Amino acid sequence: MRAAILAEAPGKLFVDDVTIDSPDANEVLVRVGACGLCHSDVHVLDGHLPAVLPTVPGHEAAGVVEAVGSDVTGLHPGDHVVMCTAQFCGTCRPCSRGETWLCERRRQIGRTPQLPPLRWGDRPLHALGSLGGLAEQMLVHRNALVAVPPDLPLDRAALLGCAVLTGVGSVFNGARVRPGETVAVIGCGGIGLNIVQGARLAGAERIVAVDRQSAKLDLARVFGATDVVDASSTDPVAEVVERTAGGVDHAFEAVGLAATIAQAFDMARPGRTAYVVGVPASDATIEVPGGPLVFRSKGLRGLIMGASRFKDDIPMLARLYEQGRLLLDELIAERIDLDDVNGGYDTLRTGTAARSVVTFDT
Ligand SMILES: [Zn+2]
Ligand SMILES: [Zn+2]
Repeated sequence: MRAAILAEAPGKLFVDDVTIDSPDANEVLVRVGACGLCHSDVHVLDGHLPAVLPTVPGHEAAGVVEAVGSDVTGLHPGDHVVMCTAQFCGTCRPCSRGETWLCERRRQIGRTPQLPPLRWGDRPLHALGSLGGLAEQMLVHRNALVAVPPDLPLDRAALLGCAVLTGVGSVFNGARVRPGETVAVIGCGGIGLNIVQGARLAGAERIVAVDRQSAKLDLARVFGATDVVDASSTDPVAEVVERTAGGVDHAFEAVGLAATIAQAFDMARPGRTAYVVGVPASDATIEVPGGPLVFRSKGLRGLIMGASRFKDDIPMLARLYEQGRLLLDELIAERIDLDDVNGGYDTLRTGTAARSVVTFDT
């Protein structure tokens, strides 16, 4: 089967023929239908986040089950599934409290670096995040996927596994936005747009979207923004604070840059919190002013994977889409072939489109 391989970082992806193992007891072999391109993989491609190479990136994938291991229950060939990078053990302290997104043994389940699931010629080939969705097939731990209704198109289903889960989950589970509250969202890419629509679903009264690109601000209005602020032509902090009479109840940062994280902190009104949802580079340092931190009792909190129990939340999100309440079609800016994956990541780097999705024939 074919896969997009990262052999050195920083570097480009190289599409080539590879081989994949058959499933171990706890694994599922999936025929990939679609894989969205997400910014956290760009950090790996650009050498800003470490990874064992060579590897196959891609973690926002959906597909069809081809085979299941002997200990996998409740899944059968032909079932449609969404993968999620928040794989969990189910028995550690956070898992036993129901906080599976904080699993302490996440890296110990699934394939070890000594036993990668793929081979590239005679070289071992790794799957980034134990997923490796930019390939025609994936070998995935049973606790890294969940079944979804078969009538949900796979290109839209894929987005539930990262952008939508992260964005909507940050609002529902992380910040627990309540009806009538005010929200600001910095960065209106795939994740930011889903924070906006999460805030709409939660009943937020004012949802201020901030970006530097007018096309993304137009899209943010479609997803539920009541106000938009073009940060390329105005001071976004002053604008948000003025429009919300002193700051918002919840400020979300979906870019992952120190400067915009500090802006989110400054947008939160006294007593409330700024949430960092964008992934900063591993060596980034975040600075916020010390006075407001204490005298205005402000919080700064990171959120991973929308603080979501994805096995419950992804099917819930699929039902919201079926009911017409969750937008997914509008997230997809382009569908591309695996051979065009480098161009898709270039588009992501320029930040001009919502989501590029690699689609496969299933
Ligand atoms: Zn992602
Ligand atoms: Zn665990």
